[in-house]
Amino acid sequence: MNRIVLPGATIGVLGGGQLGRMFALEARRMGYRVHTLSPGVDTPTGQVADLEVSAEYDDLDAIRAFARGVDVMTFEFENVPTDAADAASEIVTVRPGGSALHVTQQRAREKAFLADHGYPVTPFAKAQSLDDLAVGLGSVGLPAIVKTAAFGYDGKGQHRIHRIEDAERIWGLVGHQEAIIERLVHFTHEISVVAARGLDGQFAHYGAVENQHRNHILDLTVAPARIADGLAGEAVHLTRRVLDDLGYVGVLCVEFFVTADGRLLVNEIAPRPHNSGHFTIDACVTSQFEQQVRAVCGLSLGDTTQVKPAAMVNLLGDVWINGEPDWAAALAIADVKLHLYGKGEPRVGRKMGHITALGDSVDDAAAKALAARAVLC
Ligand code: AMP
Repeated sequence: MNRIVLPGATIGVLGGGQLGRMFALEARRMGYRVHTLSPGVDTPTGQVADLEVSAEYDDLDAIRAFARGVDVMTFEFENVPTDAADAASEIVTVRPGGSALHVTQQRAREKAFLADHGYPVTPFAKAQSLDDLAVGLGSVGLPAIVKTAAFGYDGKGQHRIHRIEDAERIWGLVGHQEAIIERLVHFTHEISVVAARGLDGQFAHYGAVENQHRNHILDLTVAPARIADGLAGEAVHLTRRVLDDLGYVGVLCVEFFVTADGRLLVNEIAPRPHNSGHFTIDACVTSQFEQQVRAVCGLSLGDTTQVKPAAMVNLLGDVWINGEPDWAAALAIADVKLHLYGKGEPRVGRKMGHITALGDSVDDAAAKALAARAVLC
């Protein structure tokens, strides 16, 4: 169905997290109504939606009833079971649709897709048993990272392995479940490209941005990335290919490693707006969330021009270590924008919000964003 969904209509969001929240805020600004379904109550998305439905994703009757009440449906994270998306798509258009969710929600399938389509990836192998793991480590080479094949994000279920003797211990840590073994990449930079493809194949992107992780969780993004223009252009080109190969409609992010010898390797694909694109809310003419609304509704994509250099730092639950953070102190720094997701319990490692700072250069923006976070606690 290629129907355009206009303001005034209702968009359904599967998932209740911060990505759904920022999507819903943009959608409502544009005059759409938003319904959200997730197992939670008073979720980050539910707090800003017109309607919050609490149901498990495997409750397909609830998913179908939810789908009947909306004009188009999307999901805010890729771990929504494909059965739920399939049940919804019998009733209403789901975007992104097709194979995107299926391919990207399982690391083994995603790596196979990338390798089969000729994208540059680090050597990898699949393992379904301890024997496979030993063989795989032999072919991939050490040091390596062993990741659970399904439902991994933010470094969850990842283990480094330096010695073959540790295979049995690592197999226990991954929980004796299907895993993927990747050769450890020695990278100089991690970058990502957030981009969108419209219903008519139109392409728009936010350029390459540079990401620093702490404990496998994104910590800092600076935009644009401090890498050679040629490399940034190649990353955008590869991202466009991914969008086309998946026949994708919506916003997507491709994460890359830049190796010491200046090559790009694709790390992973996120079939949705991404944490490394949050800066676009404050720094770009059209944010990644407005872009997702436009794409999901079949409208033209918006202008992605970045108005000023920007940096984004995540605020994890760790920031609450000394009690309520000093928001006023952070907001006293010029060009600092605060985003909080309305989550009740600030657990260590939990994404509670982010700060974006604009600057005259990315270094200036990064210094402001880091300073703003430092005064919080
Ligand atoms: P992922 O969840 O796969 O994106 O991994 C989270 C982070 O772990 C990445 O952003 C990297 O910092 C690190 N990482 C993952 N895979 C590799 C690899 N093969 N080599 C080096 N670092 C990795």
